[in-house]
Amino acid sequence: MGRRAAFMQRAAAGVAGLQPYQPGKPVDELERELGIANAVKLASNENPRGPSSRVLSAIADAQREINRYPDGAGFHLKQALAERFDLPPECVTLGNGSNDVLVLLAEAFLTPGTSAVYSRHAFVVYALAVQATGAQARVAPANPPEHARPLGHDLAAMGALIDTSTRIVFIANPNNPTGSWLGSDALREFVESAPPEVLVVVDEAYLEYAAGEDYPDCSEWLSEFPNLVVTRTFSKAYGLAGLRIGYAISHPDVAELLNRVRQPFNVNSVAQAAALAALEDADYVRESVRANATQLHRLAAGLKEAGLGVLPSRANFVLADTGTDAERWYARLLREGVIVRPVANYGLPNHLRISTGLPGEVDELLSTVQRVRGQIA
Ligand SMILES: *Cc1c(COP(=O)(O)O)cnc(C)c1O
Repeated sequence: MGRRAAFMQRAAAGVAGLQPYQPGKPVDELERELGIANAVKLASNENPRGPSSRVLSAIADAQREINRYPDGAGFHLKQALAERFDLPPECVTLGNGSNDVLVLLAEAFLTPGTSAVYSRHAFVVYALAVQATGAQARVAPANPPEHARPLGHDLAAMGALIDTSTRIVFIANPNNPTGSWLGSDALREFVESAPPEVLVVVDEAYLEYAAGEDYPDCSEWLSEFPNLVVTRTFSKAYGLAGLRIGYAISHPDVAELLNRVRQPFNVNSVAQAAALAALEDADYVRESVRANATQLHRLAAGLKEAGLGVLPSRANFVLADTGTDAERWYARLLREGVIVRPVANYGLPNHLRISTGLPGEVDELLSTVQRVRGQIA
């Protein structure tokens, strides 16, 4: 098996240069390696509270029908989302995670010879989705570290990269892994000035956490801008990362194009039922957001106290500057049973992305950081 098979050089040009997505290390993998049972995972921006009881009972009901194909049109969930946004259901596209929707957008609009724009340090799925199509990725420089929004999107730099080849601009608000976010006026101005034939995709995966002062809910602008696409997910505040369900809201014409390229049954029936129940469980989301705010504050303060640089964040994670090769911190924390996320693949070799957890998990992370820091720096 040592030699590269002959067909390898015939893979699609975009695919040949791709680096696969690097997921956070699974808890049970680390527990197996260390022979322990209580590893703490703060590496994938999941909701640490677990699914709500309403979701669990919806899943129990739905699982009785898994011999049937799911509703490929996602009727009930689309209806519920349409009501929520006060838009027709034709504006909603469901995906196997919002990752799926991002890939569908790339498949529907990008070909070799076209281009897409995103920021340096932006969510890595944009790069994967764009490159797989063979389109050109135009990566705008991010704000410098000393900027008021350090490492965040520089919208002027992004706008300057748009030309007649450009089909999509990807904006993460807030962005992962930087935690940076864009204010209402700046983002609104960008959407207004973007050419109407270029899609502006605003990824609001962390909207529930970020909502508040000077944070735009771009779904409110959809009726004004036919080229605006907003993506959301049930993976974060709604606590359904393992089920894989997210969606886009857009002009019906965009949704119609995405509907042509999506797999007929891209969202499974259990996920649809769970998402419907999760959407109705406003208390769970509210409590999750409140718990996150408390733990985010503790996490940031504790890391600063330990001498790390912490970037401002409106999400459920922080980006910490270790001031050294972050791989050393990562490896050391792993040995203590704590999983965080190194982000060298985002061009940030000195940084770690650390998700909020339950109070005890944040305690564990912070006490471990205090215990090992002398051995690293
Ligand atoms: C986690 C995340 C998503 C959501 O991914 P899913 O496929 O919906 O689980 C989308 N965008 C960003 C920026 C994220 O961090």
